[in-house]
Amino acid sequence: MKSRTKVVVIGGGIAGCSTLYHLTQEGWSDVVLVERNELTSGTTWHSAAQVTNFGMNQTMVGLKTHSIDLYKELAEDPEYPINYHHGDGGIRLANTEAQMQGYRHFASMARGMDVHFEVLDAEECARRHPLISTDNMIGGLWDPLDGDIDPAQLCQALARRARKAGAEVYRNTPVTGLTQHKDDTWTVHTEHGDIDCDIVVNAGGYRVNEVGAMMGVHHPVASMEHQYFLTEDIPAIKDAGHRMPLIRCPISDYYCRQEKNGLLVGFYEQDCKTWGMDGIDPNFVNALCPDDLERVMDVLEGAFARMPALADVGIHTVVNGPITYTIDGAPLVGPIPGKRNAFCIIGLRAGLGEGGGHGWLLAQQIVHGEAQYDTWCIDPRRFAGHTNVELTALKAIEDYQNEFRFHFPHEHRPAGRNARTTPLTPVFAAEGAEFTVVNGWERVEYIKPTPDFHPTLGFGFDEAFDVVAAEVRNVQDNVGLCEVNGFNRFEITGADRHAFLDRMFCGTVTKRDGRVGLGYLLNPHGMIKGEATIANIAASERGPGRVWYGSAAASELHDMDWLQSHLGADEDVQIRSLTNDQTILVLAGPKARDVLSSCARGDWSKEAFPWLSVRECFIGYAPATVLGVSFSGELAYEIHVPNASLYAAYLALREAGEAHGMTLFGARAVDAMRMEKGFLHWKADLLTEFDPFETGLERFVKLDKGDFIGKAALLERQAAGPRKKLVTLKIDASHAPAHGGASLMRGDAVVGTVTSGDWGHRTGLNLAYAFVDPEMAVDGNSAQLDLCGTLVEATVIAPSPYDPEFSRIRG
Ligand SMILES: Cc1cc2nc3c(=O)[nH]c(=O)nc-3n(C[C@H](O)[C@H](O)[C@H](O)COP(=O)(O)OP(=O)(O)OC[C@H]3O[C@@H](n4cnc5c(N)ncnc54)[C@H](O)[C@@H]3O)c2cc1C
Repeated sequence: MKSRTKVVVIGGGIAGCSTLYHLTQEGWSDVVLVERNELTSGTTWHSAAQVTNFGMNQTMVGLKTHSIDLYKELAEDPEYPINYHHGDGGIRLANTEAQMQGYRHFASMARGMDVHFEVLDAEECARRHPLISTDNMIGGLWDPLDGDIDPAQLCQALARRARKAGAEVYRNTPVTGLTQHKDDTWTVHTEHGDIDCDIVVNAGGYRVNEVGAMMGVHHPVASMEHQYFLTEDIPAIKDAGHRMPLIRCPISDYYCRQEKNGLLVGFYEQDCKTWGMDGIDPNFVNALCPDDLERVMDVLEGAFARMPALADVGIHTVVNGPITYTIDGAPLVGPIPGKRNAFCIIGLRAGLGEGGGHGWLLAQQIVHGEAQYDTWCIDPRRFAGHTNVELTALKAIEDYQNEFRFHFPHEHRPAGRNARTTPLTPVFAAEGAEFTVVNGWERVEYIKPTPDFHPTLGFGFDEAFDVVAAEVRNVQDNVGLCEVNGFNRFEITGADRHAFLDRMFCGTVTKRDGRVGLGYLLNPHGMIKGEATIANIAASERGPGRVWYGSAAASELHDMDWLQSHLGADEDVQIRSLTNDQTILVLAGPKARDVLSSCARGDWSKEAFPWLSVRECFIGYAPATVLGVSFSGELAYEIHVPNASLYAAYLALREAGEAHGMTLFGARAVDAMRMEKGFLHWKADLLTEFDPFETGLERFVKLDKGDFIGKAALLERQAAGPRKKLVTLKIDASHAPAHGGASLMRGDAVVGTVTSGDWGHRTGLNLAYAFVDPEMAVDGNSAQLDLCGTLVEATVIAPSPYDPEFSRIRG
């Protein structure tokens, strides 16, 4: 066994084997995999091992395409061929028009990744799968590349190739401890000795938190018991002359694929069970949980009704094994929050299908610092500290129960609600608020017209359209108040704070006390890493001179890691998160200044407190810090208040607002308004796949200011010219917004991909942002948007169609 290596991957299931192989593919051969037992002795050995191309966004589709391409190549390797049935095809069934609409959207989205799904009616589904009945079903989504693979052979093939490239695999070598040293390197302690290394990777499967505990972290991953059974031969399959396509059924929560001449049928029962919550028997190796078909009776009946042939055939094997879930159903693949040189590839619930792609993207992150796709949807830092073991288990159960039921736009499921609230949450609830969840925070979406107001879930504009329109109107005409909780805010102090930030941002960010600026952070490849508002607060009785760094609610752990990892050892800079201590109340509208002036002492005139100013004050008697910034396009103030004083500030603002017709508005109104102003959302429109020039942020780049992170690469990118350009589009449709991922077509060619869309209530325009081919990025150019299966005209317009001069914001 080596005593020193570059990377130690802990775990020899599909996650670990794929990571090891891909590290060698990215050029690192001095890498090691350590497995406590034999390869694939965790969940991988008993997996149903279906491999689909279906994903909810382009990153997931892209990584699954990588799995499929890689597995095909492995299957055809004459030196070590493996069993992979690809191209059997698979159908995701639907019994509602809303599900069909979703499938049409996913087909539009996948097309941008060169993946071609088909939306089928019920008869065509039955024609392709002769064993199913069309009762209570209206159609489905066809994935032509669906199939299944032999999981043990797959892992052996990956390990074999990795070994050939120089990697080493140590079986029967349990990792017993991890020590991190001052220089951020690690020692991995095993039963057979220690291995020093630069980087560790947790690929521990259902033992993820045993390995996590060795480095002092708890990962939001919980295991569920999951069962399938295998039937005897079915004559109709034997006689069919072709393999049966796979079935995934959100109506009765089961899946089904051919296994030899019978079927393998797996279940996602409502009466489901977590596993291993109180520790895992160390001898649970190559092991299964006891069968319990009683538990799946409800879903079994649905499967029998859909496939009557099942009722006449014997079951010869039942498999019940642990499968891992996370808070939002997607795995955690990337850097471990709060740790240096530590990565994970965990929480895989479809690890055989996805594992090839996840290992690929993880290896790219480890070797190059970033992967070729934006990996936020699988980034371990996308949750914050609220994701404890109990919440994780509740969300895992909910996710398991809804395995094949995708989230609709604006759908927020009931488990684990109120995980993060402010003193105003019950106040807004009493006012009739509908809440959305942002990184665990309950955020007001809009105020319901009646208590029993429940818009229909779907991909079109829903019944809340007019409610949101009314909220926007009052912000435009009078003034509105909105709580933005969980907004990420770091306080940065120390004499070197400005020099530090200057290095982090690609533009000039104001250093003047009392002034606010917006800036962008790039990665070393010159791509967009982050966006933050910088507010310079002068020394006062509340603290020394300091910078407030404000960014998206979900960015807390991500941005903290990024900033901390770039701090020089001798730099006088301290960073502290205030995210959980303060909440923002946004006051927006032409009468916002009047409201503020009547509850906060001081001169709030345009001259004394112009746009992009910051000032400490009191709202009534609640201490507050006011920023003159706007995301709505109206005159607006962000009022930051310590949570202990939030209710007092709210009461003062409500009282002051009464004379000015102030009403509440929510996140949906904010989102609609920001589209009319060309304002972008981090991780919807601001992605690591694009540089600031491609994203239309030239005015925030200052190439002549001295060095900053990403500058060298950005200069090269600028010389090469853009591959895509972000544009604003006017969509010629009034029934539905454009959804992120949807494709823009010219004939059969995809010429762009939507990032965001919403109705602009002040302009009367259906608006979208999209990255398009540079030739298309000219005002007046048009293409056809595949809007859930219907082609509609989409025309490029100038950004900020509402008040392009910004005169309203300046007040
Ligand atoms: C019944 C069932 C059916 C499934 N069907 C499908 C399907 O059809 N398609 C699909 O894509 N996915 C399916 N899955 C999910 C899929 O099998 C898993 O996502 C995948 O196998 C997880 O792989 P892994 O490498 O993350 O974990 P594991 O396979 O559990 O591997 C983790 C490894 O880490 C090792 N390890 C743990 N602790 C240590 C330590 N301290 N030191 C050294 N080594 C350690 C373990 O021994 C283990 O070998 C199914 C799962 C189940 C239970």
